[in-house]
Amino acid sequence: METLNTDILVIGGGVNGTSIAMALVARSAGKITLIEKGGLATGATGRSGAMVREHYLNVELVRMASDAKNFFEEWSKEMGYDLKFQTTGRILLFDESDAGAAIANGEMNRAEGVNIETLSPEKTMGLIPLANLEDVSISLYEPEAG
Ligand SMILES: Cc1cc2nc3c(=O)[nH]c(=O)nc-3n(C[C@H](O)[C@H](O)[C@H](O)COP(=O)(O)OP(=O)(O)OC[C@H]3O[C@@H](n4cnc5c(N)ncnc54)[C@H](O)[C@@H]3O)c2cc1C
Repeated sequence: METLNTDILVIGGGVNGTSIAMALVARSAGKITLIEKGGLATGATGRSGAMVREHYLNVELVRMASDAKNFFEEWSKEMGYDLKFQTTGRILLFDESDAGAAIANGEMNRAEGVNIETLSPEKTMGLIPLANLEDVSISLYEPEAG
């Protein structure tokens, strides 16, 4: 059996493994080896819609996503090329049964500094006039997502 000589072994070549490896290399953490059983980005990473947003369900994820957004914003400076990030905004629609939870979630995200608006169906209609909003009680709109 072949022996691997490395200081740190990262398992998995998705966005998490490659990001960890990149951060370790940037910190000169020694010899870093990344192993991947398939190919790079053959797991969930390759299927991702590549949506970048800060709005999440719990505080921990909101903070991680906010850090990631800062990272993407600094990308061209750090990496030397343009990521071509496109701001599109992101809107989530909720019916009456989920409205209370969505309102509380919007408040939590705003308390964490996320730019997210809680909109009435009328205001939502202004953003997506072709949508059928018959069952929609409120929506959460994050204009800076992309
Ligand atoms: C359809 C879909 C759409 C999504 N859209 C978005 C989006 O728009 N925005 C967003 O932020 N997130 C999105 N996500 C979520 C996001 O893609 C995942 O959270 C993220 O890619 C997870 O990355 P990961 O590196 O943890 O996992 P993975 O990308 O799954 O990477 C894990 C890697 O580890 C390898 N591996 C596993 N076990 C071993 C082993 N024993 N030895 C060697 N290699 C191993 C696997 O082959 C795989 O390549 C989406 C997910 C899906 C499925």
